[in-house]
Amino acid sequence: MGTFHGITSLVLLALAMLVGLIGVALEARTAALVYTLVLGIAFLVIFAAYCAKCPGRTKACGHLLPGLVAQYLPVRRQTPYHTIDLALTALALAAMVFYPQFWLWQHPALLALFWLLISGAVIQIVLRVCRRCQNPHCPMKKGTMGIRSWRADTP
Ligand code: SF4
Repeated sequence: MGTFHGITSLVLLALAMLVGLIGVALEARTAALVYTLVLGIAFLVIFAAYCAKCPGRTKACGHLLPGLVAQYLPVRRQTPYHTIDLALTALALAAMVFYPQFWLWQHPALLALFWLLISGAVIQIVLRVCRRCQNPHCPMKKGTMGIRSWRADTP
């Protein structure tokens, strides 16, 4: 359970969130507190709406932590995701990434670092983590299978 790329991509995401939080806190303390709350809620929403339905959460979560947390959430049937599950997950991810942008624009170095960390995590996940993922219903997995077959076909 847990792979090198799964865990390090999560670390990169956490660092990006920390950079975002610093950028917000430099400009507005209250907004930074709200962002902390947004992050906590967003992680819980993702764990409950997405990870709790993942068949790989108990033994094969490449990211380790989400699978561990999801084991303590109410058990959900491992059927394909409902639109509401996907919408909540997308909304939570969007809130985590886009909330700090207004304040980060005022600190170009932090803005660049934020997106560098996010890009590193996404590249790792798409190229390495999805390959071993045990979640047959994940739309990302279906998408990355296309990328992998394209890479395999590339001379
Ligand atoms: S493999 Fe993905 S969907 Fe499944 S528990 Fe881990 S992070 Fe969540």
